[in-house]
Amino acid sequence: MKITFLGSSHGIPEPNRKCSCTMIETQNRVYFIDMGVMAINELTNRGIPIESAKGVFITHMHGDHTNGLFSFCDLISWYYRSVEAPIFLPKPEAASIITDWIALGCHQSRALDFRAVNEGLIFDDGFIKITASKTLHNERSFSYLVEAEGKRIVFSGDLADPSKDFPKFALDSKTELCVLEGAHFPADRYFEFIEKSGIKQLCINHYAPWNIPNIQKLFAQLKQIKTVFATDGLIIEI
Ligand SMILES: [Zn+2]
Ligand SMILES: [Zn+2]
Repeated sequence: MKITFLGSSHGIPEPNRKCSCTMIETQNRVYFIDMGVMAINELTNRGIPIESAKGVFITHMHGDHTNGLFSFCDLISWYYRSVEAPIFLPKPEAASIITDWIALGCHQSRALDFRAVNEGLIFDDGFIKITASKTLHNERSFSYLVEAEGKRIVFSGDLADPSKDFPKFALDSKTELCVLEGAHFPADRYFEFIEKSGIKQLCINHYAPWNIPNIQKLFAQLKQIKTVFATDGLIIEI
């Protein structure tokens, strides 16, 4: 399984870091966690067929996680019409807003497969399983557990504070890769939770510049775990 960070920045873009979007590739199928970038451009630049896109999973509706969604939905509604990718929205009412916005362009658009995110297993296509768990970042925000090829990856999404909403998936059992956000509290607050988790590899994503010294401190404390800062274009294979 290949995980590519297409956008690793926090609420705003930083030099050479776009807003949040991560691509998961397994068995020639592509899934996205959040879409703060122009995902079709990213697929095109990498020579990946657009039809490989099989699902989009939004953690919450803040613009840094959703701004690329309009472009993606627009293009698969009228041009890449054979793309079969359900789009999971924490706020399902966003579906009609996106549809109305596309209609303003007067394209011959098709109906898209919008689905709501709720707590629990939300997706299983036989290749990948996605389970959602609520976080306290806002009123409809989620962490995701991704299971494929017998492996587990946890994406925290945006959090309130590790003491309140550290992703429980990462505490449950062995996690090959845990992707945690680094924008809303000093990152070394993660330490006590990561220590008692089954995390094998840690990637801090969505980090603000002010938090980099705290992240470095955290990495220095975690001697048994492989650690890495997400950067745009970073690929992790597990
Ligand atoms: Zn964010
Ligand atoms: Zn947010």
